[in-house]
Amino acid sequence: MVNIPDAWYNILADLDFALPPDVQPDLPAGDRAGGIDPQVPLSLVRQEMSREPWVPIPAEVRERYAQWRDTPLRRATNLERALGTRSRIYFKYEGGNLTGSHKLNTAVAQAYYYRKAGATRLAVATGAGQWGTAVAAACQMFGLECHVYMVRSSMTGKPYRRTMMELLGAQVTASPSDRTGVGRRFLAAGDHGGTLSVALAEAVEETRTPGTRFCAGSGETYSLLHQTVIGLEARAQLAERDVWPDVVVAGLGAGSNFGGLAFPFLGSALRGERAVRCLSVEPAACPKLTRGRYAYDYTDSSERTALQKMYTLGHRFTPPAMHAGGLRYHATAKVVSALYDRGLIEAAAYQQREIFSSATLFTRCEGIVPAPESAHAVHGAVVEAARADERGEPATILFALSGHGIFDMGAYRSYLDGEIADDIVPDAAIAASLAHLPTQPVSSDV
Ligand SMILES: *Cc1c(COP(=O)(O)O)cnc(C)c1O
Repeated sequence: MVNIPDAWYNILADLDFALPPDVQPDLPAGDRAGGIDPQVPLSLVRQEMSREPWVPIPAEVRERYAQWRDTPLRRATNLERALGTRSRIYFKYEGGNLTGSHKLNTAVAQAYYYRKAGATRLAVATGAGQWGTAVAAACQMFGLECHVYMVRSSMTGKPYRRTMMELLGAQVTASPSDRTGVGRRFLAAGDHGGTLSVALAEAVEETRTPGTRFCAGSGETYSLLHQTVIGLEARAQLAERDVWPDVVVAGLGAGSNFGGLAFPFLGSALRGERAVRCLSVEPAACPKLTRGRYAYDYTDSSERTALQKMYTLGHRFTPPAMHAGGLRYHATAKVVSALYDRGLIEAAAYQQREIFSSATLFTRCEGIVPAPESAHAVHGAVVEAARADERGEPATILFALSGHGIFDMGAYRSYLDGEIADDIVPDAAIAASLAHLPTQPVSSDV
C-alpha cells in the first residue's frame, strides 16, 4: 500500500482565518437535527474541528482503500490532439471502484467511524444515487444496515442505481415517502418528484429509530478531509513526472470532489510553496457559487438543521430538471464557501449542452464515459486549455474525472437526440428562494 496516503490533509491548518461557526436554529433542543450534534460520532466531530495538518487514516479504512486505490492519473493526449491545444491536460480518475465515483472514499471512512461509535444502521439521502450507492457499499463492508431515501424523480430516471444499492444489501425508499412526517407533508402538497433537500429531511427524521444514525453527504468538512486522498495521490503522481498544474478543475456538488482534488495543491499555494489556480465548475441550472449569496442557511428543507454560513441559493431552491443529479444541492460546503468569499478559489458555471459536447469528445478520445457531474470538469478543462492558447501561454491543467457515466445512458441518449435543454435560472427565481433564508444571526451570536 505504498502508494496510498497514510493521512488525510486538513486545509484548515493552513488558513489564517477561522470558519464562521454553525448556529443552532431557534428551536427546542429535541427538534434540532443535523450539524454537529450527538448524531455524529465524536471522532468525526473532532475531525471537523481539528487544526492539525495531518489526520491519520485508520488501518481498516486504508485496507479498504487498497481495493481500488491508488487511482489512475492520466494525460489526455488524444483529447489534447483533438482540441489542437498546446496545453497539457491531466485527469485523476475516481470511477474505477464498484460504486463508480469518488464518494466511496468518505463513505468508507464514515461507516467505519459510525460502527465504532455503536451505530447498527445508517439512514442516508441520495439524489442521483451515487452517495446512496457509496454508503450502501461501505455499510456492507462494516456490517451495518443501510436505508436510502432516493429522490423519486432520479429513481425513475435511473432504475439501475436502485438495483445496485439493493444488490449491496441496502433498503431503498423513493422520496417523498409516506414513512416520515416531512415526506407525507410534501406528498399532500402534490410534490411527488422530490428534491435532495426533502430526502435529507426524511433520512434525518428516521434517526428517531434507536440505533439508526444519519450519514451526511459530501458537504461536511470531514467529507472534504477524507477526499483529500485524491489530491494527495495526484500531487505525488504528477511529481513523479516532474509536473505541477497551473490550474486544478473539478465539478462542484456540495464540495468534496472539488476539495478532495484541489486542497492538497491549494495548501502548497497557501504555504507559499507553489502557485496554483483552483477552479470549481457548477451547472448554470444550480449556480450557487456564481449567483448565490454567502449567508447562514439550513442544509435541508426541514428547517431544523444547524445554520451554516455558505454560498446558497436558499434551502427551498429547486433547480430546473438537469442531468447532473449529483450537482443539484442548493448550497456549498462551508470551507469551499469561505475560500471563494476570500478570492482564494475561482468558479465558473456552464450550460448542459456545451458540457455534454465536451464529454462526448472526451469519450471518443480517451475511452471513458464521464458521469454528467464529471463532465462539468471535462468542459472546464477544455475551456481553460482554449483560453491558455489564446493568451499564448499553454497551461498544465489537472481535472477531476470523479466518476463514470455508464448508468447515465438516459442522459446521453437525450443529448444525442437533441433533447437536452439549456436552462437559464431567472434572477427572480433566485431572489424568491433567497427571500426564505432564515433570520441572519447577529454577529454577537456567532
Ligand atoms: C456527487 C458527485 C459529484 C459532486 O461531488 P460533491 O462532493 O458533492 O461536490 C461529482 N461527480 C460525481 C461523479 C458525483 O457522483
